[in-house]
Formats: sequence, structure tokens, C-alpha cells
Amino acid sequence: MESKNPNKTFAILQNRSTFIQSWRQSSIKDCLRCKRCYMFRYRWCLVPNYTRVSKGSSLGSIVHRLFELSQIPDGVKQVEKEVGEKIQELRKIRDSGADLLGDYDRDIKTLEQNFNKAKMMVAIFNEKFPRPAGLEVLGREIKAGVVFNAAMGKDQPPLAVPVTGILDELDYMKDGDLLFVRDYKNTTRPISFTLTGYQWTLQPRIYRILVGAALAQVGREDLVDRVADGFILDILQVPSIEMSGADRDFTIKKKELKSGPRKGQVIEEKEYFGDPDPINYLERCKLWYAEKGLEAASSFAIRFNEDPMNAELMTTLNDVAPYAGLVPVPELFPRDPSASFCKEWERVCEYYPLCSCDPSAWPAVIESQYKMEQPTVDNPAFAPIEVEYAETGAVAKYKPIFLEGAENGIHRNPKPTA
Ligand code: SF4
Repeated sequence: MESKNPNKTFAILQNRSTFIQSWRQSSIKDCLRCKRCYMFRYRWCLVPNYTRVSKGSSLGSIVHRLFELSQIPDGVKQVEKEVGEKIQELRKIRDSGADLLGDYDRDIKTLEQNFNKAKMMVAIFNEKFPRPAGLEVLGREIKAGVVFNAAMGKDQPPLAVPVTGILDELDYMKDGDLLFVRDYKNTTRPISFTLTGYQWTLQPRIYRILVGAALAQVGREDLVDRVADGFILDILQVPSIEMSGADRDFTIKKKELKSGPRKGQVIEEKEYFGDPDPINYLERCKLWYAEKGLEAASSFAIRFNEDPMNAELMTTLNDVAPYAGLVPVPELFPRDPSASFCKEWERVCEYYPLCSCDPSAWPAVIESQYKMEQPTVDNPAFAPIEVEYAETGAVAKYKPIFLEGAENGIHRNPKPTA
């Protein structure tokens, strides 16, 4: 159980910098599911001291980066360089003698394998789904932000909700005058399963309201009042086959059967030699993608037909908005009562060591297991606000979040669909 003494809890905030940040679709999602997780991750900005390179997530991020850059000259080389730098970093730690358990060595191998696998996946995808002629890429990796007025109805005073995000790609099809947000995804599950319910998730809805700001960002003021017509999803499933002994080179040997009903017959047998070869693995993966068809690799558009300021989105923004500015103490940020988020994807939440002890023990747990990571500033107009608290628990530095943005014209709600 946690302490009910607020003074004791406030003591935790002393000498601690906390932050007020704009919302992203990921922080909204986390806040909806667990307020405490949101508090640790986005208000206290805590991350575990060392996060192992997870096989799945590192593959996912390399695939994503390749999706982004493989369409431009030398893009693949650029990703190779980035992965190489990360590997160098891990090698340095390993060679300094800090790798007592061999974790860094394993992570280096994981990164090398993942880069090769990701390169193969994206090459297969690009061959299968070439970009249509007449498509103009307006920008990639566009950092956009709006202060969204989420007031519901005329009687509610303005509720300024700053929302930021990075759009993977913005495409314009002159033919048909269509504007699409393109998003790259990869998944370990079949595509139809992964996309179940996708159309009402936060991602397409949030990116849609960011489009006006993204267009301004890439200098297309001529299109700025447009809302996106739809979303293009480029999505790939990670092949469930791994490189193995079956990917070694082989020769065919003839062999005469010496016994049994087929005695005397000559059969052909594969005799493998050497190490598994990535080229053979690539061919096996191509066959795997050919067998699975659109369930494993797909590129398709979803047209929007709902009001961009629809009631569901407004309700969501109204639900989370107060948590951006509340004093970040456990009393105000409850844990997930279902505990389902605590063990989602069969992984224990990274804040479990904190949640499972009394807050009075948090300073010691944080000291040994976490570090504070300053939030990144994608856009100066949406820079996080650092907040410190006085000894009494009163707020020492605080200003209403981003209301200036709304006044300075950053605020741009999309127009309702005609
Ligand atoms: S362990 Fe559970 S309750 Fe605690 S932050 Fe994580 S998800 Fe929330």
C-alpha cells in the first residue's frame, strides 16, 4: 500500500525537476491506460538505466528507418552508418570490461542480424509496392505541432491542448488532388490482426489534425487549409523464419538405398556445407512473403470520412488534458487498477519496481535503477516546461500550459468535413 500522507509524498518532489510537455499520440495512449505510467514517463521523465536491445523493438526501429530513407539516394547507407555507430558504442562498453554478463556482446549480434534482416524486408517491400507515378513527396519526418481547442460545446471555455507529432511522410497526388499522410509500420503478427480497430485509434486521428501545421512546416502554404484525405499504410510483417542451417549452401548427392521396400532405388539428397548464407535466407524469405501475400506485406490507403474534431477524439483529449499540468504526485496519478498494462505483451512494465514499493522508497529505487532523461525539443514553440516544487509542496514555477501558443496563432483546428 502507498503512504496516505501528502506531505511525505511531496517530499519526493523536492530537488526533482519535473516537466509539462505537449501531448503526443503515444503519451495520450499511455495516460489513458495508466496515469502512473504517464507520470513517471512524461512528467518525471524517468527511464531505466540500461535498456537491453530488444530483438523485436530494434528490428522494428531499423525497419522503420529504412522505410523512411530507402526511397532517397544513399538512404540505406545512412541507416547502415547509424546502426554501425550504435554498435561501436556498445563495443566500447564491452571492451571497457563492463560486460560481465555478456549482455552487450549479445546486443551487438542482435543489432547486426537485425540490420541485415530489416534491409531484406524493406527491399522485398519496395520491389512489391513501387511508388505510383505522379506522387509528390511533400516531406518526410515532419515535426508538427498544434494547440488544439478541445472545448466541447459553446458553453465550455477554450481548452488548449498542445499536440505534437512526427509524420513519417506527407504525399500529394496531383492527379485527383489528394493529400495523404503515409505511415510505415511493422508487426510480428498478421496484418489484418494488427490493424483491427486501427481506424478509430489515436494515430490517424491525431496525425490528421497535425496536417495543417505539417504543410506549413514544409512550406506548402498553398495547401495549408487542407485536411488530409486519408492515410496510406505501408505495413510489413516480420518473417517468422530465422536464418538457420537450412540457409547453408549444399550439393546434391545421389545415394542408393540399401534396405527396405525401396532397396536398390537411387535417391537424391542435399549435403549441406559451410555457414548459413544471408543470400539463401533472403530467397527463403521471398518465398515466405509470396506464400503469405497481403497478410504479410501491404500498402493501402484509408480514406477519412469522419469529422476531424469528432466527439470521440474530443472526449479523449478532455480526459487526459488535466494530467499534463497536475502536480505529479502518486495521489493524483493512480496506478492501472486492472494491472493489464503492467504486463502487456508478456513484458513487465519498466516502472514496476517503483509501483510495487512505498513512495518513500522511490528515491533509493530511482538512484539505483533509473535516470532522468531531459525531454527532447522537436519544435521550440512546444518546448517542455521544467517545473520545480517548493518544500511545502506548493508549485514554485508554473504557467498555464501553452495558452500563449493559442493566442499567437499556432492554434489551428482543422475544418469540419463538409
Ligand atoms: S507497473 Fe502498472 S501501475 Fe505501475 S506504471 Fe506500470 S502499468 Fe502503471
